[in-house]
Amino acid sequence: MSRSVSFCFDDGFRRTAGGVREVFEARGVHAAFCVLAAPEQTADPFIRATPVADWGWWRETAAAGHPVEAHGWAHERLADLPLSEACEGLDRTLDVFRRELPGFEPSRQVFHLAYLAAPQAVVDHLAQKSLGVRRALGGAGLNAAPGRDIDCVTFGDPADERLAARIDRFLAEEDGWLVLVLHGLDGEGWGPIRRTTLEAQLDRLLSAGVRVAPPSHVLPTGG
Ligand SMILES: [Zn+2]
Repeated sequence: MSRSVSFCFDDGFRRTAGGVREVFEARGVHAAFCVLAAPEQTADPFIRATPVADWGWWRETAAAGHPVEAHGWAHERLADLPLSEACEGLDRTLDVFRRELPGFEPSRQVFHLAYLAAPQAVVDHLAQKSLGVRRALGGAGLNAAPGRDIDCVTFGDPADERLAARIDRFLAEEDGWLVLVLHGLDGEGWGPIRRTTLEAQLDRLLSAGVRVAPPSHVLPTGG
């Protein structure tokens, strides 16, 4: 297969989402935005500290070709909940996305787990409903081929350097599909990167002939 890289932006920060759209749209490519059904209920300090976009903005973003996909109800740690409560919360999350985003159909969308993790029974529940489930599987975000159990990687501070090093390694010695998770630009969220870093890394990948596309565009549908 040819090489692909997906960029996922978690948590839905409004200012970041605007910047990411400008950067990607200027290059004719798309990112995935992974957002919460009820961000106002979150206990996560990074999300509480930073304004997130509203459904009107997400509808416009989805219409511009960027998948807007589910990242959970309010960023719970799913391992801390009883299984039935975790699954019920995820089903409620998908119902909100169906209601708010025209054409949202879970079986054609990837689910992006908060904290990149959930108990296997929760993953199995989601896998029945979703095109794919994105989590950390220990492969540093490298998937040998597009598959529905999607490995991803994210970077704490200094995230600029860590992102650059991960892309260095991919370009130098790897094949397959790399799934990168970022949060905010220019100081927003956990592990923020500079917009200039995002621009530079995207340009490197595109000039190396790597396909840049969101996970739900990389995965085959209907199979
Ligand atoms: Zn998150």
